[in-house]
Amino acid sequence: MEISKSKVLFEEAGKYIPGGVNSPVRAFKSVGGTPLFIEKGEGSKLFDVDGNEYIDYIGSWGPHLFGHNPEFIKNAILQSLENGTSFGAPTELEIKMAEIITGLVPSVEMVRMVNSGTEATMSAIRTARGFTGKNKFIKFEGCYHGHADYFLIKAGSGALTLGVPTSPGVTKGNAADTLIAQYNKIESVENLIAKYKGEIAAIIIEPVAGNMGVIKAGDQFLQRLRKLCTDENIVLIFDEVMSGFRVAAGGAQEIFNINPDLTTFGKIIGGGLPVGAFGGKREIMESVAPVGPVYQAGTLSGNPLAMAAGYAALSYIKENPDIYDELEEKSKYLEAGFKHNLEKIGKSFAFNRVGSMMAMFFTEEPVTDFNSAMKSDTQIYAKYFHKMLDSGIYIAPAQFEAMFVSTAHSTVELDKTIEAHYNALINIL
Ligand SMILES: *Cc1c(COP(=O)(O)O)cnc(C)c1O
Repeated sequence: MEISKSKVLFEEAGKYIPGGVNSPVRAFKSVGGTPLFIEKGEGSKLFDVDGNEYIDYIGSWGPHLFGHNPEFIKNAILQSLENGTSFGAPTELEIKMAEIITGLVPSVEMVRMVNSGTEATMSAIRTARGFTGKNKFIKFEGCYHGHADYFLIKAGSGALTLGVPTSPGVTKGNAADTLIAQYNKIESVENLIAKYKGEIAAIIIEPVAGNMGVIKAGDQFLQRLRKLCTDENIVLIFDEVMSGFRVAAGGAQEIFNINPDLTTFGKIIGGGLPVGAFGGKREIMESVAPVGPVYQAGTLSGNPLAMAAGYAALSYIKENPDIYDELEEKSKYLEAGFKHNLEKIGKSFAFNRVGSMMAMFFTEEPVTDFNSAMKSDTQIYAKYFHKMLDSGIYIAPAQFEAMFVSTAHSTVELDKTIEAHYNALINIL
């Protein structure tokens, strides 16, 4: 595969942009090699600057439920563009956007639009703190909630010690109010609640974790979490930036039939433009400015182009609820193909899938939390990644990311992917 133009551009980019990229995972650091510079995306395909073509399973890390550049989203953006790009004043489309979100996700009674998933989670935590008057919150090891300081924290040594920053620039003060629990282990939450009684404002969780590979939370685990939050006056936040409108029209909360108090969105909600949102119970959301005292704002929030793209995406979902059956069918087909390949070569690698989100781990033990995910052999993953790429299959350049199927993927492409998967595995194992 010829990628000389990408190589030149990557070198050039490194002169002006840290690491040559505007978000670290794009740099291929954990798999090695040169990131591809993309010229265009169309349906399930990506085309790089050297003229290579790939079947894409990254989908811009989640937003592209319908593949790249679908006509109906493109047209919505173009139409909106005719009227201008930003007004910094309310528009009718923002009401329609809020209406469609609250309609599809019943636990969300009011919603505020922001510009990224990071802004959504950050604002949700502030709102929970403002609403409860408490400071601490619990997050789960391996869950990602964007890059706000107090999320970049991992567990310290010993079960009940305070968290420690995972990045320079995050202060101990930032870490002090972040408590770390273990995914799918309710005792770890109970212990923290007992130890910090009356101090915990919120628990935030990815109900389907998509940032340590893909891991589904247990039903019982989430039910217990819901009850603990209700009993202890803790705001339960589902971070559905990835799972929202991905695993079901109503997000993971629809699958689990659990109502969180607040929910955060991003990715699909922007139809490919930079958007996030947080929302939930009216009582809590009414503590947000200007109706309440919790400050939250944004120059470009509710941007008309982004609202047009997002509204087009959500309208399509609302009018075509059967796309989730289609996504399930395609994803199941891919899973069956991969599992058949594994059988043929005598391996039983962990494979987790929820709807059109999936991940294969290079470990034969079940993956249910951060520690079990970490057993995956990332060096083998790197080899696997490059073999897939050489066969024209674009998957995440890092083990602990999800693989996404879109409605644009055809059976022919899925078959090609299954064949590439088999060839990659026999080659590297
Ligand atoms: C992607 C993601 C975020 C961060 O969203 P950005 O738009 O990248 O800031 C937060 N939470 C989850 C679950 C995500 O997958």
